[in-house]
Formats: sequence, C-alpha cells, structure tokens
Amino acid sequence: MTVPAVLPHDAAAAPAHTQVLVVGGGTAALEVVMALHERAAGEVRVTLLAPDPHFRYRPLAAYAGLVPDTRQTVAVPPLAAEWGASVVGDRLASVDLDRRVATTTHGGRIAYEALVVASGAAPEAAVPGAVTLGAPHDEPAFAALVARVRAGQATRLAVVVPPGVAWTLPAYEVALLLAHAAPPETTLVTVLTAEDAPLQAFGDAAGDAVRSLLRRRGVELRTSCPPETVAGGTLPVPLGDPVPLDAVVALARPQGPAIPGLPHDRAGFVPVDVRGRIVGEDDAWAVGDVTDRPVKQGGLAVQQADVAAADVLRHLGLQDGETAPARPVVRAALLDGQGTLYLRAEHGDDGWATVVSREPLWWPPTKIAGGRLAAYLAARETALVD
Ligand SMILES: Cc1cc2nc3c(=O)[nH]c(=O)nc-3n(C[C@H](O)[C@H](O)[C@H](O)COP(=O)(O)OP(=O)(O)OC[C@H]3O[C@@H](n4cnc5c(N)ncnc54)[C@H](O)[C@@H]3O)c2cc1C
Repeated sequence: MTVPAVLPHDAAAAPAHTQVLVVGGGTAALEVVMALHERAAGEVRVTLLAPDPHFRYRPLAAYAGLVPDTRQTVAVPPLAAEWGASVVGDRLASVDLDRRVATTTHGGRIAYEALVVASGAAPEAAVPGAVTLGAPHDEPAFAALVARVRAGQATRLAVVVPPGVAWTLPAYEVALLLAHAAPPETTLVTVLTAEDAPLQAFGDAAGDAVRSLLRRRGVELRTSCPPETVAGGTLPVPLGDPVPLDAVVALARPQGPAIPGLPHDRAGFVPVDVRGRIVGEDDAWAVGDVTDRPVKQGGLAVQQADVAAADVLRHLGLQDGETAPARPVVRAALLDGQGTLYLRAEHGDDGWATVVSREPLWWPPTKIAGGRLAAYLAARETALVD
C-alpha cells in the first residue's frame, strides 16, 4: 500500500463514508484505532483526524538529554494504514453532536456514525519562572538546564508538583535523573510537592517506595508545599536564610481543550462514563487526557481506549453483549538514572494492592504500559536495533 509521507492538509481527503472518527494522534487515539482493527478488521471504516504526521513518545521526549534516545517518534500514516484507518491531517475545530458532523480548522467537514475524541490536554505552566516539564515551548530551556547541570553550573535545583496534578511520578523521576546527571557531590535537588506523600493518589506503599529511593539518592523531599514556596527563585530554610535556587522545574497543570460543541467541565475536560461514553451522548466517546478523569496517565488512557473501542463496536452492532468497564490498574516505570523501579497499583475493596519491584512487572516493560501500541513500539524498536 502506498502511504503519503506528509498528511493531506484538508478534510476533503476524508473518505466518503466514515463510520468511526477518531480524533487525535497520541497514545489514546492510536490505541483506539488498533483496538477497533483487532476486534473488527474489515467490518468497520475508521478515519483518524490527527494534526501531526508524527507520534511522539511523550514520557521519554520530556527527558531529552537525560535518557537515551529510543527513536520513539513514529510516522502516523503508515501505522494507521497498517491498522486499517484512513488519515486526515487536520485538527478538530468543533463538533455538531446532533448532526454527527465534525468540522476541522481548515474548514473540512467529516460526517461520522461514532466519534471518539482523544485530543489530549494542554500542559499549562503552573509556577511562574519555572521550566515546565513536558511543555513543548520549554523544551529548549529544559535542554539548556540539563547541560548546565551536567557541567556543574546549576547545583541548587527544585522540582515542584503544583496542586491539581494527580499523575506526579514525572516530578520524582526528573529529580532523580537530574541528580544522577550532575557531577558527584555537587548538586542538591529538592522536590516540593503539594501532595501529603509522594504518589499520594496510589496509596502508601507506592509513596514509601519513592520516598526511600529519594533518600538513598540524596534527593530532598518536602511534602504539603504550595508552589509559592519557591517564588522568587529561593528555597526557604527553617530558621535560616532562604537559599537561592539555580533553576526550578515544575510539572504542568493539565488544561482541557474545551472544543466547541463538546460538553466540558470548568477546566475544559470532557465528562465521560465508565465506558468512555461522553455523558448524555449515544454516539460519542472520549478517552485519555482529554477526559475529566483526574489521573492523566498513558497506561490508563490505553485501558480506557480498549473499553471505548469495544463499546463503539457494540453500538454499531459489530459486537454482542454489554461492554464490561475495566477496573483501572496503574503501572508506573520510574527511571532513576541507574535503572527502573516498577510499581503496579490496583484499587480493590480493601484499598490499594501495590507491588514494587526492580524486575519488570509487565511486558513489554514500557513507560506507557499495556495495549497494542506498546507491543507495536517494542517490536519496531527491536527491528531498528537488529
Ligand atoms: C514528563 C512526562 C512523563 C510521563 N510519564 C508517563 C509514564 O511513565 N507512564 C504513563 O503511562 N504516562 C506518562 N505520562 C503521561 C502520558 O504521556 C499521557 O497521559 C498520554 O500521552 C496521554 O495520551 P493522549 O493520547 O490522551 O494525549 P496526548 O499524548 O497529549 O495526545 C493528544 C494528541 O491529540 C492531538 N490533538 C490535539 N488537539 C487536537 C485537535 N483539536 N484535533 C485533533 N487532534 C488533536 C495532538 O497532536 C496529539 O497527537 C507522562 C507525561 C509526561 C509529560
């Protein structure tokens, strides 16, 4: 099959008949495409509306300079073609849910029978003056910071978890990676988190494991700290003068896109039920970071994508029975510069059941765990290395 290297830039390229329109080009959208294909190949016509011709593996892209380049930038058109979807290279501008028509920013209109929105969240800066981790506009500043840390020119660093962020692992990860990258015995990294304990959303065992790792690596931890603590670029010291900081890195506060025509909460996120169906709608779903689920995590997005794809097929009459909602399992792979700490947490009737291990707890042992995309990327990486 011949696949265009560059995506067509208008929705006139949309196939005449789209059954399922999947919006987005990230983990959640690609997983939906793959799940639809695996469950109903040849029976369902899928169109992917994605503005960027490349998929970037966000958890590793954010740590450029600190982790090896794993070449996990993947061209979307061949991947979509392999998994049975047509691609339109444009951006969703608005939706008419009653008429089942999506409009793109270039003025294209795509009629659909079922809509799955997976357009992610925007990484909003939450701490003035800080470098926002994972925000595209701060990538050059982060790269410059990494160079200074490696050269021993930035030795007092703070990493901040602002309130309202539930997926906090990247803060502990970047603190450990920066501490590891610095020349020995030169640098003090302090994590200041609004949480009462590290990884607070996943129970005590996960928090204890991270706390103990930070202690062993000499990373200081201050909990229940508001971001204003580092305002002015200084770190307060009890009974002492504040210590000037060379740099502050902060997690982004996710912001929803508030796409016209879609229901959304005050932060712009789309409200969904346990099957990913947009609340109050019969033929529209949303998955991943764009939804009102508090924990914005790729592994959870993959689980949501699988359930939503099954529910879409059931809605189209291509799958029988009720769609069973998934019981979410959090899988976290924490890179610390020397290896990986794997955490698996599942919430049951008796609270959190957590496993912590230096050996992989899932396979392939990717940062975004589970699903078809992880297996696809792992196989592709092996092929590239061979
Ligand atoms: C530093 C960092 C570390 C992380 N570590 C982990 C980890 O260890 N494990 C883990 O599971 N998760 C991790 N995550 C979170 C994970 O990256 C996200 O939860 C995941 O990428 C969400 O996938 P998504 O597809 O919902 O959104 P995104 O990945 O944001 O993708 C959204 C897609 O939609 C497209 N889009 C945007 N607007 C529109 C529009 N209007 N129309 C059409 N398309 C649009 C975008 O171009 C993009 O392709 C980490 C994130 C960061 C920043």
